[in-house]
Amino acid sequence: MKQNIPEKGAVVQRDRETYAIKVHMPGGFTTPQALRTVADVAERHEIPTVKVTIAQRIALIGIPEEKIDAVRADLGDLEDGATGLCIRYVKMCPGATWCKRGQQVTYDLGMEMDNKFHRLQVPWKFKMAVSGCPNDCTEVCIRDLGLIGTSKGWNIMLGGNGGSRPRFSSLLLENVPTESEALTALEKVVAWTQSLDKKCRIGKVVEELGIEAIREEIFGK
Ligand code: SF4
Repeated sequence: MKQNIPEKGAVVQRDRETYAIKVHMPGGFTTPQALRTVADVAERHEIPTVKVTIAQRIALIGIPEEKIDAVRADLGDLEDGATGLCIRYVKMCPGATWCKRGQQVTYDLGMEMDNKFHRLQVPWKFKMAVSGCPNDCTEVCIRDLGLIGTSKGWNIMLGGNGGSRPRFSSLLLENVPTESEALTALEKVVAWTQSLDKKCRIGKVVEELGIEAIREEIFGK
C-alpha cells in the first residue's frame, strides 16, 4: 500500500494509488500567469481533479506516482512541498488593504511570514494565519500560531488547532504595535517551537506548560 512521500510533497489519496501535489499560493493570492501554468500542468499531465483547498492553495489530485517528478518540475517555483512535520501554510485575509472592516494591513506581513516560515521544519505539524481584525476570518483561533489585527497593533495567538479535539488559541502577546515587532516575536516563538522535544501539536504544550510560563520563557515577561 502506497504512503505519503513527504520529501516530494506528495500526499497519497484514498485509492492508495495516486497522489495530490499542492501549488504554493501564499494567502490565496495568485496571478493570471500562475493560474495559466497550473492549468497547463493539469492538462499536460491529465490530472483529473483540481481543487481549491481550505489552506488557500490549489491541489492537483490523482497523480500517478510515476508522474510526480514531472509534475513538480513543470510547476517549478509554484510547487508547494509543505507536507509532514513543517510549517504548512500562512493563511491571510484581505486585511485593511481591501476589507472595509480591516484594522491592520495583512498582505505585506503575511507575505513576510510566508517567506520566513513556510516549510520550516518543526517537531509537529504547524499552521499559521493572519487576520486583519478581530472578526478573524482566517481562524487564527484554531491555528498553531497567528496574528489578529486590532486598532492598536497585533495580538499574537498561540496553540490553536482544529481536528477531532479542537482547541482555541491562547493570547500570547497583546497589541504588539508594529509589523516588525510582531514579526520578530513570531520568529522567537517559532525558534522556541523548533527547540521543543515534544511530538505533539503546540496546543498540547500550551496546556501542559501554561501560556504565562511560555510568555516568560520566550519573552521574559
Ligand atoms: S478578519 Fe477582518 S479584515 Fe480580515 S477579512 Fe475578516 S472582517 Fe475583513
